[in-house]
Amino acid sequence: MTEVVVTKDKDSAPAADALVVLENVNKHFGPLHVLQDIDLTIARGEVVVVIGPSGSGKSTLCRTINRLETIDSGVIRIDGKPLPAEGRDLARLRAEVGMVFQSFNLFAHKTVLQNVALGQVKVRKVPRREAEEKARQLLDRVGVGNQADKYPAQLSGGQQQRVAIARALAMDPKVMLFDEPTSALDPEMINEVLEVMQQLARDGMTMVVVTHEMGFARSAANRVLFMADGRIVEQATPEQFFTAPKSDRAKDFLSKIL
Ligand code: ADP
Ligand code: MG
Repeated sequence: MTEVVVTKDKDSAPAADALVVLENVNKHFGPLHVLQDIDLTIARGEVVVVIGPSGSGKSTLCRTINRLETIDSGVIRIDGKPLPAEGRDLARLRAEVGMVFQSFNLFAHKTVLQNVALGQVKVRKVPRREAEEKARQLLDRVGVGNQADKYPAQLSGGQQQRVAIARALAMDPKVMLFDEPTSALDPEMINEVLEVMQQLARDGMTMVVVTHEMGFARSAANRVLFMADGRIVEQATPEQFFTAPKSDRAKDFLSKIL
């Protein structure tokens, strides 16, 4: 049996610019304690890169933030509101938290334009014409405006991932989660996706990015989180983390990837 810790709301108000707050979050998969006492506050406009060995809980952390996974205890708040358990509020929350996965997850039988317009029409009840207009603008912004009428399979992996980013942005999310967005791409396509993400970061988007791209972490991240065994073991600025990691786990990890 697993111990369930119930966390009471703190009396003090969160910092005014705290957009994503996790307090004492715990999650198990059966006997596996996959997230252990996670405390994390992400400020509006902050770019947080999450790194760590395979199986350390990085994807699960992202998936709990947009409620693709439930948690066993603790609190997660987006912009001051606790995550809803289910129902219509959950759909609304999902719209506020954009997610981009390693596999692009585009609808194969819809055009690129439809892929980006669809969520606005279905969830936000935006008129189709307006949704398509916005979709075209977003496709331009990620550099694939000329691919709007094609189907996903006709695009390269890098182009598809940029469409996936445009699709997430179409919902006007408050925060964007990226779970290894370039890991499935051929090497020559990685930069075109990272550049779109860099631009988003410069535009002030709040971002959580799980990635092994240390160049991106160095140049775009305000903060690096290092996870191991379901815990945030270390967090620092990229400069501090890459030049002087403190924990043995982080030193070991960096020695293998750098
Ligand atoms: P990471 O993204 O850091 O590689 P994950 O969050 O995907 O790690 O997984 C953390 C651990 O949880 C791994 O041991 C993984 O096998 C396990 N896990 C992930 N998803 C599930 C699931 N749906 N059911 C059972 N175990 C899972
Ligand atoms: Mg993962």
